Amino acid sequence: MNSNGESHFDVIIIGGGATGAGTARDCAMRGLKVLLVERHDFASGATGRNHGLLHSGARYAVTDHESAEECIKENMILRRIASHCVEENDGLFITLPEDDLAYQAKFVEACTAAGINAEVIDPALARSLEPSVNPELIGAVRVPDGSIDPFRLTTANIVDAKLHGAEVLTMHEITGFVIENGRMKGVKLLDHRTKRTKTIYSSITVNAGGIWGHNIAQLAGVTVNMFPAKGALLVFGHRVNNMIINRCRKPANADILVPGDLICVIGTTSSRIPFDECDNMHVTREEVDLLLSEGEKLAPSLRNTRILRAYAGVRPLVASDSDPSGRSISRGIVLLDHETRDGLAGFITITGGKLMTYRLMAEWCTDLVCRKLNSDRKCQTAEIALPGSRKEESQARKYYDIHGSAQGPKYSLDGVPQPSRDASATAVTSASQAETADKSAEWRHGSINAEINATDADSRALVCECEEVSVAEVEYAISNLHIDNLVNLRRRTRVGMGTCQGELCACRAAGQLAKAGRCARSAQDDLEKFLQERWKGMYPVAWGHTLSEAQFTSWIYEGVYGLPVIENK
Ligand SMILES: Cc1cc2nc3c(=O)[nH]c(=O)nc-3n(C[C@H](O)[C@H](O)[C@H](O)COP(=O)(O)OP(=O)(O)OC[C@H]3O[C@@H](n4cnc5c(N)ncnc54)[C@H](O)[C@@H]3O)c2cc1C
Repeated sequence: MNSNGESHFDVIIIGGGATGAGTARDCAMRGLKVLLVERHDFASGATGRNHGLLHSGARYAVTDHESAEECIKENMILRRIASHCVEENDGLFITLPEDDLAYQAKFVEACTAAGINAEVIDPALARSLEPSVNPELIGAVRVPDGSIDPFRLTTANIVDAKLHGAEVLTMHEITGFVIENGRMKGVKLLDHRTKRTKTIYSSITVNAGGIWGHNIAQLAGVTVNMFPAKGALLVFGHRVNNMIINRCRKPANADILVPGDLICVIGTTSSRIPFDECDNMHVTREEVDLLLSEGEKLAPSLRNTRILRAYAGVRPLVASDSDPSGRSISRGIVLLDHETRDGLAGFITITGGKLMTYRLMAEWCTDLVCRKLNSDRKCQTAEIALPGSRKEESQARKYYDIHGSAQGPKYSLDGVPQPSRDASATAVTSASQAETADKSAEWRHGSINAEINATDADSRALVCECEEVSVAEVEYAISNLHIDNLVNLRRRTRVGMGTCQGELCACRAAGQLAKAGRCARSAQDDLEKFLQERWKGMYPVAWGHTLSEAQFTSWIYEGVYGLPVIENK
């Protein structure tokens, strides 16, 4: 508080994506008084709408050497500090008969120059390492790619920022600034829950608003020319691959297939969209067709694999007039000191980059904040592990090493649920089911799983069968992970992300939220919004089993509660 009784912070950070969360953690670890402000929920922007690829940097080696070097360095750091968010499954860059095999040598040379270990392997070895890969491949290079869960990563940064004293507001939108004599002194906030506005003061304000950083800068009267490059992706209801499969050619559409938990994701497209579409994106039929036809070239079994949903995100790229798709704009980090650039003291923008480089972005930004506040505290985020990450883990973390085949056989290859699934039961039916739920929680939360109190049959009962989320895990998330609706809960625990897309779990989870008094809206309203959000992702791929499942969900919820689920979007 200042002498007028107003809140005052050293630094206010706008945006609860990976960049803002990482910056809040770094600033708090360096002893600053921090407030993080997010207008919706953590990871609701590009951070929660990407592939989840832990880039080795190989994808950028030929076209963007600087980004490639940043990626491989951060890749190695994230394996150490965020082990519970990372799956170390390696990647293949494959050459197909229609591609130019000569590109492979250029690719390996560029990888080597960036410090990325790229090993040319025989196509036969690639087929045995990754049986789902297109058997017609004529070349393969193995690189240290991996999978990373952006939701867990962001949450872990928030949890640690709070442990170091940071304050966090979700559902609060920055609507304006207090600027006096060329210095930013504070922010104006709208609380979306109460519809009230307030002003909070700080010495420094950081714009980590991703693509919306463009609008936030405008509110402050400065220009940050962003380029909204939409990318669409498809989620498949089965994990067809264990290694990441990339195409060995210049980055293009639908040339990356990434496994994560029980599913895999194909992406992406790249097209410029108007700024006013960034808040309400739809995946088009053309995008779905393109993703499918190109995706099948990476792994032909995708043709017979059920698609769960489609989604899209907007890359926070800084504009280049010469590239209409945004595909070749640098993924390099952009740090803007608006005092030296625009004569506006106390305001900094951190943007560009990638999920992969969020920690480095936070480090650069916090270094600048500290210089301005005359603090010489050094960054420790590359050494100190995030909550949940096990420093002692020496072996590569792989999904099937932890889960064995327990999760696999529940669904057939085309994603059709097997008859053993019991739609009515929340109770854990066997000791082995309880054990797999424990393993799933440990997979998701790492060493923090020890705090999840799943001691008796009631707490070990399943809320979400597809993702094996127990009552205890939901209770833990509600109490500790900043949750007040079902969509938040989905991002923290994967409730509703599995094959049935919330058909059975949504109602149970809504009950738990209501019991804990955590529904910002009424439980029924929350449930309706959650189900419609699930339907929005299913709608572009609503045929076959996906449509049957959506209709079944609709019958349950419309029949029992009168909730409209399937609406034309
Ligand atoms: C299709 C696609 C695929 C990608 N794949 C990968 C990948 O596999 N690997 C990788 O490393 N990177 C990938 N990326 C890039 C990566 O997702 C982004 O670079 C990264 O997530 C950006 O994080 P951020 O925190 O800077 O922005 P965001 O995650 O967009 O966060 C910005 C936040 O600011 C909030 N906000 C906006 N305005 C306001 C306001 N007025 N008040 C308060 N809050 C506000 C938003 O709600 C949002 O939560 C991909 C991106 C896309 C779009």
